[in-house]
Amino acid sequence: MHNLRQYKVPLQRYVAMMDLQERNERLFYKLLIDNVEELLPVVYTPTVGEACQKYGSIFRRPQGLYVSLRDKGKVIDVLRNWPERNIQVIVVTDGERILGLGDLGCQGMGIPVGKLSLYTALGGVRPSACLPITIDVGTNNEQLLNDEFYIGLRQRRATGEEYHELMEEFMDAVKQIYGEKVLIQFEDFANHNAFDLLAKYSKSHLVFNDDIQGTASVVLAGLLSSLKVVGGTLAEHTYLFLGAGEAGTGIAELIALEISKQTNAPIEECRKKVFLVDSKGLIVSSRKNSLQPFKTSWAHEREPVTTLLDAIKSIRPTVLIGTSGVGRAFTKEVIEAMASFNERPVIFSLSNPTSHSECTAEEAYKWTQGRAVFASGSPFDPVEYDGKIRVPGQANNAYIFPGFGLGVVISGAIRVHEDMLLAASETLAAQATQENFDKGSIFPPFTNIRKISALIAASVAAKAYELGLATRLPRPRDLEKYAESCMYTPVYRSYR
Ligand code: NAP
Ligand code: MN
Repeated sequence: MHNLRQYKVPLQRYVAMMDLQERNERLFYKLLIDNVEELLPVVYTPTVGEACQKYGSIFRRPQGLYVSLRDKGKVIDVLRNWPERNIQVIVVTDGERILGLGDLGCQGMGIPVGKLSLYTALGGVRPSACLPITIDVGTNNEQLLNDEFYIGLRQRRATGEEYHELMEEFMDAVKQIYGEKVLIQFEDFANHNAFDLLAKYSKSHLVFNDDIQGTASVVLAGLLSSLKVVGGTLAEHTYLFLGAGEAGTGIAELIALEISKQTNAPIEECRKKVFLVDSKGLIVSSRKNSLQPFKTSWAHEREPVTTLLDAIKSIRPTVLIGTSGVGRAFTKEVIEAMASFNERPVIFSLSNPTSHSECTAEEAYKWTQGRAVFASGSPFDPVEYDGKIRVPGQANNAYIFPGFGLGVVISGAIRVHEDMLLAASETLAAQATQENFDKGSIFPPFTNIRKISALIAASVAAKAYELGLATRLPRPRDLEKYAESCMYTPVYRSYR
């Protein structure tokens, strides 16, 4: 840590960490686990974003596997080149929507690499069981196409049949080599492919999309915790989203599902508690013919409204969630409107990075006279309001996916079921304490993350057994102990 802290430029710290991972994997993980709050922003967002942008010039060795359009017809041979046999988790991207940075093509590899190091550090999945993959179908990023250090195919993105054929060959090859029990996490695909890929392969493969499902699970956990502060049941609240993409509709669907579980009402009814605004205004039935398929179930019978403020005035939501990527979209008027009819308005501004956040923590507190229950996607420093220090919670997906993956792996689950996501949310929500609430956070601190991951893994595995999706038999009696016993810990071997 002393050496690492000598570097003042975040990207240098990133490179130093990647070098360490290569040189001494155990030490890399020991460092990451013991200093998780300091190093998470180095190996993952925000620094990993800059690393992806400059990947060509900081490239040392391939840290993962590249599958390109040129490999068509022999994808299985390419996969067989990977030296490890017992793969449990694959994170795969096609680089089209890297964080909030757009199309970075092949340079998106930093994301699967970073996510998998969190699978190991936070979730205890063995490093040798993790496989980062980037599918290279070209890039539409002109700057990269003209960059002499670009590491990928120099062509515009393949689309349509050509794209889907390669994906299909890849998915088949993975199943052929590693069987049914390898978890394939789709990461940072653009939303026009993400929903289709998830729908298509969830029937035949063990797939999980963190941008849709992981986000939904962590945000639902935040909502369940918020209820302990603001009162009422999930069904008694009304939800309004700014942004109806992967994050927004993913969260919306999981809220409706949980309400449906809690009240035994049909999901279609429960969806009526949730409203979404996209770049064209409130999603309503009169827009039905021109909506993308993943939005249609949110097109309620209502008058069209174009602005967020008007939507707030007509719907009077108790919960406002920003998943638009538009910085400062929660203006003073917007937040004051929320505060005018809610004693404790719940306001989540989830867009990343910090500059894209719909509002800052300080604004949320200031404009509601300290009454807001706030969480954000990017971390905010503690805020002092009215003589009280508040530590805003961060709805970081890293609370969920490592434990979720561990639960899937240890139970030998062969499919992801929505109930497993709900189980993860409920477990995380139960970990936030009154002490956390008093400080202003609806999430527990990250320092206990390995314990939290083990608990999430146990509840996800329990659900997998209950649903008949688990193949590791007999079922371990104490799943929490079993999860902990499966977790990789970076200690040196004793040679005595
Ligand atoms: P996405 O699929 O591209 O969706 C973005 C949505 O925002 C689209 O529905 C888009 O509308 C809408 N939008 C864009 N500009 C708008 C405007 N001016 N007014 C209203 N709506 C607007 O992206 P995503 O994957 O959902 O991610 C969205 C944001 O959520 C990103 O900033 C990301 O960092 C953040 N996020 C946070 C977390 C977390 O906190 N844990 C997790 C995941 C994502 P159209 O559909 O009309 O284009
Ligand atoms: Mn992502």
